[in-house]
Amino acid sequence: MKLALVGIGKIALDQHVPAIAASPDWELAATVSRHGTVEGVPAYTQIEEMLSAHPEIEVVSLCLPPVPRFLAARAALEAGRHVMLEKPPGATLAEVHTLEAMAAARDLTLFATWHSRMAHAVAAAKAWLADRKVQSGRITWREDVRKWHPGQDWVFEPGGMGVFDPGINALSILTEILPAPVHLTSAELEFPANRQAPIAARLSFTGAIEADFDWRQEGPQTWDIALETDAGPMALRLGGNVLEIGGAKAEGAESIMEEYPALYARMAELVRQGASDVDLAPMVHVADAFLLGRRTAVEDFEF
Ligand code: NAP
Repeated sequence: MKLALVGIGKIALDQHVPAIAASPDWELAATVSRHGTVEGVPAYTQIEEMLSAHPEIEVVSLCLPPVPRFLAARAALEAGRHVMLEKPPGATLAEVHTLEAMAAARDLTLFATWHSRMAHAVAAAKAWLADRKVQSGRITWREDVRKWHPGQDWVFEPGGMGVFDPGINALSILTEILPAPVHLTSAELEFPANRQAPIAARLSFTGAIEADFDWRQEGPQTWDIALETDAGPMALRLGGNVLEIGGAKAEGAESIMEEYPALYARMAELVRQGASDVDLAPMVHVADAFLLGRRTAVEDFEF
């Protein structure tokens, strides 16, 4: 199937382009980006122009930041194309509901991807937890924003989500593996005094689950989810790639390269089945943190 990629920036070049090139299902037939291009692929700067020039392209995959993504997704659906959304699926919940309804009315596939759910050990963790009781949990998601988002000011603009841009990856895993849902009960958000989005957040959920997100961690990075259960401790480390049961490694590999190939394989399956996959549970927790969060100002942030 022919596919167009929109928003040729960091994640498009790091992950989407190699995953599409290695896939038996997909051919990259066009790109849309104001500056970015992919060698040998027809490039457009306006999505409408690409859509009218390429009626044979069935799928549009959007790698834009969340705020500009809705208009591109709407244009693609209106033109009768299936749509794949980077995480987070939108800047607001309501706009994703609108896209979901548009796709359903047109019998088109909408896939709101959560790449961290494709990490090596997430399915095994979910299976292990299925018939167990979770008694408490601690998520530690601490990384260096300068390393992962160099110069990307949009992450600190309204709708950029700040530290929830990585934190929502942890929440996408949590909402996938827990045998029963939880909801947020309180949040503390630290906003750099010169920015519009938080650089750190501490969250409390029902079920004695706590989360600590911080974008100021230099040196080793931490992406851990540790849960106490009625069958002892389990932990997912390295962003869902390694599962530990009772302190010993049970499953996984220390590479994150397989997440995007798995997303594209899933998209091919959804298109063939005529199905959609839009789970907003991770984003509901982020929205609730902004609704309930106690805000404190911390020192200015510059890249
Ligand atoms: P990015 O490089 O800053 O942005 C992607 C491209 O989108 C840019 O190169 C730019 O291309 C276009 N763009 C940026 N702002 C725009 C605007 N206001 N209007 C229209 N186009 C705009 O961002 P990214 O890191 O690839 O992240 C994109 C999405 O992928 C985010 O939702 C992020 O959460 C997700 N993601 C990122 C990573 C990561 O490691 N960075 C990992 C997983 C998922 P042109 O200037 O050429 O138009």
